[in-house]
Amino acid sequence: MQGLPLVDRFGRVATDLRVSLTDRCNLRCTYCMPAEGLDWMPRDDQLTDDEVVRLIGVAVGELGVREVRFTGGEPLVRRGLVDIVRRVRALDPGVEMSVTTNGLGLDRTAAALAEAGLDRVNVSLDTVRPDTFAEITRRDRFDDVVAGLEAAEAAGLGPIKVNAVLLRGVNDDQAPELLGWCVDRGYQLRFIEQMPLDAQHGWSRDRMVTADEIFERLAAQFALAPASEPRGSAPAELFTVDGGPATVGVIASVTRPFCGDCDRTRLTADGQIRNCLFAREESDLRTALRTGADDGELAERWLKAMWGKAAGHGIDDPSFLQPDRPMSAIGG
Ligand code: SAM
Ligand code: SF4
Repeated sequence: MQGLPLVDRFGRVATDLRVSLTDRCNLRCTYCMPAEGLDWMPRDDQLTDDEVVRLIGVAVGELGVREVRFTGGEPLVRRGLVDIVRRVRALDPGVEMSVTTNGLGLDRTAAALAEAGLDRVNVSLDTVRPDTFAEITRRDRFDDVVAGLEAAEAAGLGPIKVNAVLLRGVNDDQAPELLGWCVDRGYQLRFIEQMPLDAQHGWSRDRMVTADEIFERLAAQFALAPASEPRGSAPAELFTVDGGPATVGVIASVTRPFCGDCDRTRLTADGQIRNCLFAREESDLRTALRTGADDGELAERWLKAMWGKAAGHGIDDPSFLQPDRPMSAIGG
């Protein structure tokens, strides 16, 4: 690293970069998007592959970023994904690189992604019942996700993590079933509390399934014990399942926020830096990039954007306002 780390005024250092490659998606999860989809970002606003790689190069080369996670929207719908992965790997052989995906199409691309230098995948799957899957995602594609998971494993993109969101009255009674399924296959399951980031503004604290409830439901069927590895900046509280080695994570983003340990910085598909999922402001790197800024200037803008990061997301403050962009346009 040549320049300064991405430090904020509370002393946190961001080393984990989430890159959204598109706001488009081929599913319509009810906690994320409306059935009809959204007004997608105009193509010209979206960073080109070259621009994405250039900005990641600044983050990794000048600003101390050590982990790059591609997300969206659905990152696998971005045509240039494999090439972007290959070029980032060439920039830095040591950077940890992963993709968060709904798994659709992973059966066709897992081998190419692994060959290009991707380390791991996180696959989102909230249920192992095809009918519940169709109810949550509004698409009948459960088998395709399973095929994607299997291909990722065969390609060596493990350890595979599975992300799940529980919705009251829809799949909250299925948590143990999902955990058993993941344990049988060697996937590391992590439950995420539902956050107020859906485009429809349908989130409500009363209906959200809390981390404590999730733990209780799992503990009714499995012996859970705190895992010994330190949590550090990782958001998941980890538990061993039935004595291990399998583990399950619970990410209590709302009820036990981990903002004090946050090490994230985010780049949206249209080239805006966000210092938090819940930030109300963004810093425009795309215009600077397109008007000839050099790497040093881009790095400086990035540093300034992170310096202003708030202490916490403030979901519990009476003055809390959901960000203008939904999760699918920020990059989850
Ligand atoms: N499409 C990809 C996927 O689903 O994995 C990547 C983007 S998606 C926005 C990233 C993660 O955010 C997924 O695991 C999804 O379940 C989660 N997510 C979406 N909306 C959420 C919400 N309102 N609260 C909590 N997690 C959410
Ligand atoms: Fe698409 Fe992921 Fe949002 Fe589901 S959670 S609609 S798969 S972006």
